[in-house]
Amino acid sequence: MFNSIKVELKTQREIEKMRIAGKLVGEILNSLETFIKPGISTQDIEDFVLAQIKDAKMDAAFLGYPKGSANPFPCACCISINEEVVHGRPNPNRKLKDGDIVSVDTGTIYDGYYGDAAKTYAVGQISQEAKKLLAVTEQALENAIKIALPNNRLGDIGWTVQTTAEENGFSVVRDYGGHGIGRNLHEDPHIQNFGKKNTGLKLEAGMVLAIEPMLNIGTYKVKTLADGWTVVTKDSSLSAHFEHTIAITKDGNEVLTRM
Ligand code: MG
Repeated sequence: MFNSIKVELKTQREIEKMRIAGKLVGEILNSLETFIKPGISTQDIEDFVLAQIKDAKMDAAFLGYPKGSANPFPCACCISINEEVVHGRPNPNRKLKDGDIVSVDTGTIYDGYYGDAAKTYAVGQISQEAKKLLAVTEQALENAIKIALPNNRLGDIGWTVQTTAEENGFSVVRDYGGHGIGRNLHEDPHIQNFGKKNTGLKLEAGMVLAIEPMLNIGTYKVKTLADGWTVVTKDSSLSAHFEHTIAITKDGNEVLTRM
């Protein structure tokens, strides 16, 4: 069934545009390291990020996505605190507190091509358990990138994320995953963060993929709040999210959103 998925391969010219879009996302996520602190609101983060996208004369990929929807996403960033997994909406009344973890997911469009990445930050002093969750989630992403090579398969990515998570006592969100990316924010293939080695679509040069593990301290199960966007863990346990956009090359891959 995986062989029937049509994955669009990108040319060098297209990847060059995605490199420009991705570089800005990497710079923005890096700039948040010092910006995020107790007392600021999630709207402050949104404003800070949107200003950088506008300064670079690019467009915010998430703002108004998906086009034509009755309930499009209203902001440039998804900002998710603690038990929020993904798709939290910036809010001027939502202030960060010492000990929170906050994930920021954002995307840009340069000349029609998208970049997408996410990172989870510690707000002030966080617990040892939260520190471990952040470290393991980032490690799961790095391990997945290491195995995202031509002739390996999509299942290798999912297996790697799941194994890294579960060996460390964490669970992997099943209902959301990574995706192809290009002239659209979300393209085929869908990339599960769990699965079996040596199964699924074969990776090849020219594929551009957003890999994005989401790990929870408790259950893998999630639910969506009444706002229609914010996804939270069912048991209210902490959740972390890291993401990079990568291009598969002939002999490896290139991370387009790395600073
Ligand atoms: Mg994504």
